[in-house]
Amino acid sequence: MADGLTANADHIFGVWVNQSFEDSGHYVFHLLQGGLGMPDRDDYIDPSPRMAVLRAQYQSHIAAILKQGGFADSERRAGRILALEIRMARAHAPDADAADVFKQNNPWKRGDFDVKAPGMDWDAYFTSAGVAGQPEFIVWQPSALTGTSALVGGESIDLWKDYLRFHLIEHYASVLPKAVATEDFAFYGTILSGAQQMPDRSKGAITATNGALGQAVGQLYTQRYFPPEAKAKAQAMVADLITAYRSRIANLTWMSAETKKKARAKLDALTIGVGYPDTWIDYSALEVVRGDAIGNMRRAEAFNRLHNLAKLRQPADPAEWRIDPQAVGAVIVFSPNAEFFTAGILQPPYFDSQGDAASNYGSAGAGIAHEISHSFDELGNIYDSQGRLGRWWTTEDSAKYRAAAARLVTQFDGYCPFSDLCVHGTQVLNENIADLAGLLVAHDAYVLSLQARPTS
Ligand SMILES: [Zn+2]
Repeated sequence: MADGLTANADHIFGVWVNQSFEDSGHYVFHLLQGGLGMPDRDDYIDPSPRMAVLRAQYQSHIAAILKQGGFADSERRAGRILALEIRMARAHAPDADAADVFKQNNPWKRGDFDVKAPGMDWDAYFTSAGVAGQPEFIVWQPSALTGTSALVGGESIDLWKDYLRFHLIEHYASVLPKAVATEDFAFYGTILSGAQQMPDRSKGAITATNGALGQAVGQLYTQRYFPPEAKAKAQAMVADLITAYRSRIANLTWMSAETKKKARAKLDALTIGVGYPDTWIDYSALEVVRGDAIGNMRRAEAFNRLHNLAKLRQPADPAEWRIDPQAVGAVIVFSPNAEFFTAGILQPPYFDSQGDAASNYGSAGAGIAHEISHSFDELGNIYDSQGRLGRWWTTEDSAKYRAAAARLVTQFDGYCPFSDLCVHGTQVLNENIADLAGLLVAHDAYVLSLQARPTS
């Protein structure tokens, strides 16, 4: 069971290393509910006929994978594995609870595991996971940990071996013989996602290389497509956006003076990464062997796992990049207080370091300002300047914010693209506020840039 981590198989819990919800200074080991082959708890327990069909399809998939692995009696084994996952799913938190960050913040001391979640040999588990000396962990969904551990202790070892065999093969499907990859796509690609055609192998190769050597690829990409001059231009734009935000916060009418102090502190502490990281991951310890796809995948996963575990011995670094520079995207990380905009997204026509400032501020600038807005809206109001969990608005701030926001709700409720279908203003509120704030702040920032660097 514990070897699942070192073998890089999908295992019964999700694990990751991040700062704790209350202490931003260092990283801790987080344990999340996991271990299910289908995406949602409801896929396992919803009694509707549609979900019953999906479960039957999943069971056939398990059987097909076991058969590919050379295991006899695969149908019967698959039925038992599905039944086990259904029991695990019952212990998982309902979706609404699983998404409530305040319910995820459950610090457990090492000794709590034996008391609160008996059944698992926790010493063996944590030793194998490489975190034997850790005094404290964060458990996101205690019911899942307790329930799954009880199943570890209560179900037969042969059943668990079959469960782990299936998930191990499934995990490596992309680098196993074609019949395995095809079966994997038939379930996850076609049945679950509706895709008809397996992606071209070149795309799979790019995905695999990005996954194994993300920042090494990013380094090559940025050398070619996002030179230091582009980064400097984007950073100057971000600095103008921050200045614009500072005066907009000072002028807010719904936020109390006391809360404005906290907002300013949060803005001052916000780390914004643009393009690519200042320091790159050193991959020299990772051995890449031509022609050994499965070995390369195993070694890369082991490398990345050790890279993450090493963080447990270092102070937390808010500037740690959470997305690869070559990805076309942006991430906002509330905990710690940081946002990242990749070289991949900062490309023409969205952002052009040789292009006109008005265009850059109006497109990429507005997009970056949109994301910054989330740090100060109802999403961000539960994380403070250091990314610690806790509301920093007063009740009065919230009431005034909602009253002002209600006007935007009404505006969007009135947009009916079809005669029988209108926009739900409340459902899109956070995004609409961010879009509006993004444009206004980007315009302010553009005006600031003209004052600082007047055109002739
Ligand atoms: Zn948004």
